[in-house]
Amino acid sequence: MKKSEHLGDLIEIRADYIKDFNEENLFELLRFRRKPLILTMRKSDEGGLFKGSLRERQKLFIKALELGIDYIDIEFSCGEDFVYELISLRGNSKIICSYHNFQKTPSLREMEELYGRINSLKPDIVKIVTYGNSINDNFIHFELLKDKENLVSFSMGLRGQISRILSPKYGSLFTYGSLSSDKKTAEGQITVKELIETYNVHFLDKNTKILGVIGGHAENSLSKYMHNRNFKEENLNYIYVPFKTEHEELPLFMDNFRKFNFAGSAVTIPHKVDIINYLDCVEDTAGKIGAVNTVVNNHGTLTGYNTDCPGAMKALEKKIDLHGKICLVFGAGGAARAICYGLKQKGAKIIISNRTMEKAENLAKELSVEFCPYKDINKYDCNIIINTTSVGMYPHVDDTIAEKDFLRGKTVFDIVYRPMITRMLKDAQEVNSLIIEGCEMLLYQGIEQYKLWTGKYPSEKIMRHMLKKQLEGE
Ligand code: NAP
Repeated sequence: MKKSEHLGDLIEIRADYIKDFNEENLFELLRFRRKPLILTMRKSDEGGLFKGSLRERQKLFIKALELGIDYIDIEFSCGEDFVYELISLRGNSKIICSYHNFQKTPSLREMEELYGRINSLKPDIVKIVTYGNSINDNFIHFELLKDKENLVSFSMGLRGQISRILSPKYGSLFTYGSLSSDKKTAEGQITVKELIETYNVHFLDKNTKILGVIGGHAENSLSKYMHNRNFKEENLNYIYVPFKTEHEELPLFMDNFRKFNFAGSAVTIPHKVDIINYLDCVEDTAGKIGAVNTVVNNHGTLTGYNTDCPGAMKALEKKIDLHGKICLVFGAGGAARAICYGLKQKGAKIIISNRTMEKAENLAKELSVEFCPYKDINKYDCNIIINTTSVGMYPHVDDTIAEKDFLRGKTVFDIVYRPMITRMLKDAQEVNSLIIEGCEMLLYQGIEQYKLWTGKYPSEKIMRHMLKKQLEGE
């Protein structure tokens, strides 16, 4: 309780996690509380550890009400008589009547019906928590919350995480966070510290504009740290969250994106190309590159942009003038397309080399530039070497795409940013070459996105600090 006092606005005591919890403990808890307390005791099929009988639980709850507890949380599944009796004894305390489904999120119609049944018992608060099997399950909670004043509603699990963060915007009375990452009481729960420091949840209201990153592993993205910190510093009512979305979930997610009027998004692997099918228009550069990493919602019109290209150019041009330089680009995937397009515009000469030569050849032909197999790269006296493959990325941190000696006297840019200094960059430093880190590209593509979403220029200093802090801590 002491550790939670300065973090939470309410503190939930999971009495079922306390060994031999008894009336004496209750008395102590209430005597030392500094914030309102919710007393909860769940048995195993309700996701808890309580082993006693229903009667024993009832006795403890009645005692808590006598002592003036702030809230008790009782399961709807305990039966209407159980719930009625406690409601009749509540005095000044408040009763939360909750429903949990650990398998799935039922349909909106079923959830509405469930809410009606629980609410008819007249608890102070109805709580409906379900398991999120898809990003789209979160929207069922957002719909359910509409026009209800006594509801707490969200999904559990990693795929349900956005409703834990965003439900207060849609009217949920509160949300839950764990005290520390090793003390989570439900799957997908995030810490209170993260809710407050990363997501600024105290500032969420119904006008908060929603942004996020759409990706298969969106939860690993670092952009939430740089964007949310800037929104806070600049007093902008935006929030940026991870939209963990699988390929087959994308069509419905994009319908929901429009329906809930999300302000925009970043887009990452594997959706950078597919996303184009769900947009109203694509800006010229993104169209030519054939990949979108940013979506802006302008009064219902969704436009796609590519900020990987200007982000990479900015990272390079801070260190070197590109015009007339010979650039060897390793890789022929999405990032390579964006970077080669930018290099060409800057008047650089490009040679593309890739593991799958056919892809290097296709991209080279499309851009009217050269290509060559790995074994022939020594033929070129290049000024700049760029790695756009995932070689060297965590956990394969000892891998590199080029021999150390080949890097001598060149400018070496590795767009891999986990780790911050890759094996290739370490080798380049050892032969006194100029290096450019991948997180510089991440930073500048993020700055371009921020400008597109908000129309404002963010603090580069804050964004760089937030990125480096995260990467150094990994
Ligand atoms: P992608 O479209 O999947 O392309 C992956 C590229 O890496 C392909 O050229 C692939 O070659 C090559 N590759 C993968 N594994 C390889 C291996 N073991 N040996 C040799 N080549 C290999 O991915 P992407 O979107 O371009 O992203 C590539 C990397 O850039 C990722 O690590 C990503 O995190 C990073 N990235 C960084 C930023 C930034 O802001 N710093 C931005 C975007 C991407 P094949 O064609 O032969 O498969």
